[in-house]
Amino acid sequence: SRLVVGECLVDLHPKIESGSHDDTGVYARKPGGAPANVAVGLARLDEAPDLWTRIGADGFGDFLAETLAAEGVPDTHVERDPDAPTGLAVVSLDADGDRSFALYLEGTASSRLETGAVDNATLADLDWLHVGGVELAYEPSRSAVFDLLDRAPDGVTVSFDPNARESLWRAFDYADTLAEALPDVDVLVASEEDLAPAGYEGSPEALASAITADGPHTALITRGAAGAYARSTEDAPWGAGEAEHAGFDADVVDTTGAGDAFTAGVIAALDGGQSLADAIRFANAVGARATTAQGAMAALPTRAQVEAFLAE
Ligand code: ADP
Repeated sequence: SRLVVGECLVDLHPKIESGSHDDTGVYARKPGGAPANVAVGLARLDEAPDLWTRIGADGFGDFLAETLAAEGVPDTHVERDPDAPTGLAVVSLDADGDRSFALYLEGTASSRLETGAVDNATLADLDWLHVGGVELAYEPSRSAVFDLLDRAPDGVTVSFDPNARESLWRAFDYADTLAEALPDVDVLVASEEDLAPAGYEGSPEALASAITADGPHTALITRGAAGAYARSTEDAPWGAGEAEHAGFDADVVDTTGAGDAFTAGVIAALDGGQSLADAIRFANAVGARATTAQGAMAALPTRAQVEAFLAE
């Protein structure tokens, strides 16, 4: 089985007039949070993973709980916090339609995961554990997630996406956090922008080499419309190798959540026994397909949609 860990948030998106990027001064709520997007992405591709997340016992929390249930994500580890509100992401649009996020996490349910809430019996059953990085910003979630990484048995493949571009990391020592996490990580999925703030710079090949020297046996570097590059060492179940895919042409509507879609594609493919080269092609197709509709979760494709996209 698989477990995804991290925030499930309400994204407040500025409503836009159709055909323009001008916002209307009005927000709409959408379900989001990178790890929750990955969980829903996996649910649409093959099999819903468990999601360890914490949301408020409030109206936003009801909305998220209903969304996860409708997507088939089990509620075993979806916690409702009676004493803290649901975390929020406020989305801004610039004149080109590019989005940026500001997060309200401190003191919300999202930052209040507790050590030990996922027991050893659950961990013993796992094949794959995916962690999203923003959960490492605030206590007590930070300690709870590091404890989970420490307790994950050797046979579990641990993937990690730092999501460093979130504005919140400016307030923390992101480089130290990443350095602390990497020895426990097998598969790092990151964009070039995620790695620069931690001092990893250079070509995708150089980034992946540096990452695989610091703990993970596999590094996948996402490059937006230019696709992705991946490298693995002999410690990887899929063997040592390199793979590159130039990305697919997509009729881009909204790139929000493309990275989370890519991550869901990587997990489904690699845990499903595909080679690194096949996995990167499949994940690029999932990522590209996710850019063709609005929203993060809403745009995540089903397996049939990805197969149709690949057949075009
Ligand atoms: P993030 O969404 O985290 O910013 P990227 O922009 O690197 O990450 O995108 C993640 C993946 O989504 C890419 O590796 C690619 O597969 C796909 N993707 C993103 N933008 C585009 C695009 N404009 N056209 C085609 N595929 C895209």
